[in-house]
Amino acid sequence: MGSRGHVPQRRCAGCGRRSAKKSLVRFAAGGDGEKKIIVIDPGGTAGGRGVYLCPRLKCYDEAAGRRKALQRRLGSAGLEAGLRTEFARLAGCGDNRSQDARTLPGTAPADSNHSHR
Ligand SMILES: [Zn+2]
Repeated sequence: MGSRGHVPQRRCAGCGRRSAKKSLVRFAAGGDGEKKIIVIDPGGTAGGRGVYLCPRLKCYDEAAGRRKALQRRLGSAGLEAGLRTEFARLAGCGDNRSQDARTLPGTAPADSNHSHR
């Protein structure tokens, strides 16, 4: 359902910005024991409540680290071991592009000995 061309948006729990839902990473509380565990839900298939984050470690750290908004919003669930690593892998396209300025050493000014006499 929904009108054509409507892009569902969600708010990032880290920075609070709204983005297209499919560009965000979804977290859900998993585990069926008494202790809930937060897992990444890439397909958005897990039922229940979901929390969305931009694919940026900064947003993850903001939501899961300092403010614990992620945990609180998912019913005080705990973080899965290695969750941050997994998130970083998913988000890999965002953080790693700061070295694009590899200029080739084209003409080195090394031949300064053309002194005609
Ligand atoms: Zn964000």
